[in-house]
Amino acid sequence: MNNLYSLTAHQLLDQLRAKGVSSEEIVESVSERAGSVDKKVKAYVVLETERAIKQAKESTLNKSDGKLKGIPVAIKDNICVEGELTTCASKILKGFRPPYNATVIDKLLNAGAILMGKTNMDEFAFGSSCESSAYYPTLNPWDLERIPGGSSGGSAAAVAADEAIMALGSDTGGSIRQPAALCGVVGMKPTYGRVSRYGLIAFASSLDQIGPITKDVRDAALLLSVIAGFDNKDSTSVSPKKDETDYLKFLENDVKGIKIGIPKEYFVPGMDKEVERAVREAVTLFRDLGAEIVDISLPHTEYAVAVYYIIATAEASSNLARFDGVEYGYRCGNPENILDMYERTRGEGFGPEAKRRIMLGTHVLSSGYYDAYYLKAQKVRRLIKDDFDRVFESGIDCILTPTSPTAAFRVGEKSADPLSMYLSDIFTISVNLAGVPAISVPCGFTKTNLPIGMQLIGNFFEEGKLFKAAYTYEQNTDWRKRKPKL
Ligand code: GLN
Repeated sequence: MNNLYSLTAHQLLDQLRAKGVSSEEIVESVSERAGSVDKKVKAYVVLETERAIKQAKESTLNKSDGKLKGIPVAIKDNICVEGELTTCASKILKGFRPPYNATVIDKLLNAGAILMGKTNMDEFAFGSSCESSAYYPTLNPWDLERIPGGSSGGSAAAVAADEAIMALGSDTGGSIRQPAALCGVVGMKPTYGRVSRYGLIAFASSLDQIGPITKDVRDAALLLSVIAGFDNKDSTSVSPKKDETDYLKFLENDVKGIKIGIPKEYFVPGMDKEVERAVREAVTLFRDLGAEIVDISLPHTEYAVAVYYIIATAEASSNLARFDGVEYGYRCGNPENILDMYERTRGEGFGPEAKRRIMLGTHVLSSGYYDAYYLKAQKVRRLIKDDFDRVFESGIDCILTPTSPTAAFRVGEKSADPLSMYLSDIFTISVNLAGVPAISVPCGFTKTNLPIGMQLIGNFFEEGKLFKAAYTYEQNTDWRKRKPKL
């Protein structure tokens, strides 16, 4: 039974249901693959092969049928799994094993999924390259001298390298979509409130969402249909009037008559020519397939990065206050007194990017600066959301943009310059500030064989429309058939 690892979840489910393979065989195939390529890619921080095989055996014995029965899923290291190491790739959570599951984990287990292991990330999801992990940087399977994107770089690289069938990531300003684009896979950030954040270790609570990273659009729809839904353990979880989570039913190869908006602010002079060409070709294909292409404007886009780095750091500085060495995680050695314990625990436990964000966030919230920075940023955030409202009210079904201004950059290229790193999320950040859903789908390759992704943005709770457009595009292109040589 060769190469099971290279299949999608829906292909494997067909085989499982036809009794052509067993879940143990799938888990073994994936863990053998990880055993042979993860030395190079370093996508996982913990690979739970034994636990996964045990779970797979139980799944085979268990008669009940779940949507993901027998399918292994990799989990980003900031999502709590009961009894399993969960560290946000930070030294400050060294040894932390949560006493409970995140809601998404319970939902996966109820659907019969197998937990494959924890994937690497930028520390506390702060970053766009996976280089700020306290473990090691993850590398891009398409070019091992390049970054996989971040912060969910481990999940995206694992899926691209066929070390995972599908994975969960989290997205605060682009952390699912940007690594998905840079690794040539599909990634979706759902509407804020669509997926429970209970058990997701918070970065910026008003922006964070968990979402799928998969090999194709069908798998993304399948995985989201398992993890979405109201949860009374998350006070920002939303129960829409029509609680439609059966996303598979939107997968129709048809975009006739749908209106796709092309925002002029996302095609700026100076953006990478190959990225621009690939995205423009995607626009042409949509037109050829019968979609109506409309030029639109999202006038407050230029403020998004600035607003994001005020709001996200403010929330992060407050969320990270809980890591003090008292109840769990890392504690410094031989503290002299409690203040020394706090100071050295945090000084030794957090990496440079986390410290930078705590300082920035504390500053923008401090008296005298709060009005000038934080409050002002909240007002501009509202204007950014109003831009999207206006476009969708005018009848646009989805907005098409590049996911990232460039393909994967080289390891070390931006790590000494935080500002240039922050700018790599210029196309993904507005979506989190507004709270709307967006998906990144592969749309081409550079001359040097690096993947390029495009982003489709939808109105609140209209993930279905995004899946339909993305699926149609995917069915009419071959990008997903290319695999990295490892
Ligand atoms: N790269 C952005 C940041 O550094 C977004 C990260 C994320 O979405 N978690 O904050």
